[in-house]
Amino acid sequence: CGIMGYIGYREAQPLLIHGLRKLEYRGYDSAGIAVCDGEKIAVSKAKGRIDVLDQHVQKASLSGTMGIGHTRWATHGRPSDENSHPHTDETGKFVLVHNGIIENYLDIKEELSNEGIVFSSETDTEVIAHLLAKHYDGDLVAAVRQVAGKIRGAYALAVMSEYEPDKLVAIRYASPLIIGVGDNEKFIGSDIPAILEHTRDVYVMEDGDLAILTPDSLLLQDIDTGQPIDRKQIRIEWDK
Ligand code: GLU
Repeated sequence: CGIMGYIGYREAQPLLIHGLRKLEYRGYDSAGIAVCDGEKIAVSKAKGRIDVLDQHVQKASLSGTMGIGHTRWATHGRPSDENSHPHTDETGKFVLVHNGIIENYLDIKEELSNEGIVFSSETDTEVIAHLLAKHYDGDLVAAVRQVAGKIRGAYALAVMSEYEPDKLVAIRYASPLIIGVGDNEKFIGSDIPAILEHTRDVYVMEDGDLAILTPDSLLLQDIDTGQPIDRKQIRIEWDK
């Protein structure tokens, strides 16, 4: 699948849809975006190609300068509106997109269901949203790190929360993810073409990397230790 994320000063919706179109070759059974207006997060998602999603968001017109998007290649759960990403917890305050497979999701799902949590999709991904809600204690990055310790498999994840509407958090393990650095704006993408129109300065995330993005800062940490890590920013010289 493909992931796109944006945080900055421009309206996120058109940027996300445009980026997803560039990623459509990675998967195209469904697509969705979530946009945060600084307070609330609104989600729009649908089975079908990006054009179907585009028609939805044209009507809904999600406003805000931070958002995440996804084009899906289903691995767990058939292509449907409900199984499309982004996924949320029961309150809708934690929202995420995922590329990859959570191998131990059935165990986690059973555990959470026993605690009374109601699932709204058949995906492996949804457990992550509920785990974030469960482990959140006022620090989104800490919650993401805890959840990363519980899930096994392959993941590129982009996460946002209404509790901390000033940042995007991304992690990567065995699925590709890059960060684009612009002036007062940052991008997340599954690959370089998704963001190349906006910036040529990128970081290629490595396994076990966690990134915290705000419009004017980028922090890279080790998921396990929380220690800052040094990755070289590279300049993409080739053309789209
Ligand atoms: N395993 C997830 C799902 O089936 C993500 C698939 C993808 O990478 O598109 O929803």
